Amino acid sequence: MGSHQGSSPRLNLVMLGPPGAGKGTQAERISRTRQLPKISTGDILREAVHDRTSLGCAAKEEMEAGHLVSDDVMIGIVQERLERADARKGFVLDGFPRTIVQANALDRLVNGRGPLVVLDIVVPEEVLVRRLASRRICGDCGSNAAVDWLVACGKCGGKLVARVDDGVAIVRERLGVYQRQTKPLVEYYSGRSTFRQIDGNLPPDIVTGAIDAALAEAAQRGVHS
Ligand code: AMP
Repeated sequence: MGSHQGSSPRLNLVMLGPPGAGKGTQAERISRTRQLPKISTGDILREAVHDRTSLGCAAKEEMEAGHLVSDDVMIGIVQERLERADARKGFVLDGFPRTIVQANALDRLVNGRGPLVVLDIVVPEEVLVRRLASRRICGDCGSNAAVDWLVACGKCGGKLVARVDDGVAIVRERLGVYQRQTKPLVEYYSGRSTFRQIDGNLPPDIVTGAIDAALAEAAQRGVHS
């Protein structure tokens, strides 16, 4: 790790996969080692809900029901974020796009910025349900809990809690939403030379290794400009 720092080529990365696949964990690692901004639409929305902004108030009900927030709102958020200076050298998108409409918009937004590299993290459904039931986040700063954070957040010391939308019934709803609205993106991207599937049903460090190998291979084939 860390070997990419300083001289990283541009990388426009999209992490695809169902809830609980480990997109956030892996996106965080790639963002750190390659010094690219991690753009997690779920984190942006949770922060807005926490801060009770107008976006947060509008999104809260849909999020707690396990439904998607509207495409217009999400595209607006990502457009604004990609326009910031730190995203010029690339980005790691976690949780966006989630619909074909969002994917079309993203293609327009990155037009002229080099190709999108798309990693689809694949995990069987019964493993996802189990993982989501035991997932904890920090109730204060929203960080995903690492395995060695036993009672408190390793970043801010806040109390670890379950996510409101990780309850069993809502998880089933979110997995259904994924099947209906997000899984078609696999088809949407799979014809591109920059699309890779990654086995996410392995320990996190092994998954990180597979992702690094996939990105190195993509870079060799010249897909990062
Ligand atoms: P996540 O943390 O990615 O699982 O996102 C949590 C929730 O935020 C989702 O269940 C949706 O309600 C909402 N959300 C996050 N990203 C999107 C998106 N790209 N489109 C629509 N809703 C989203």
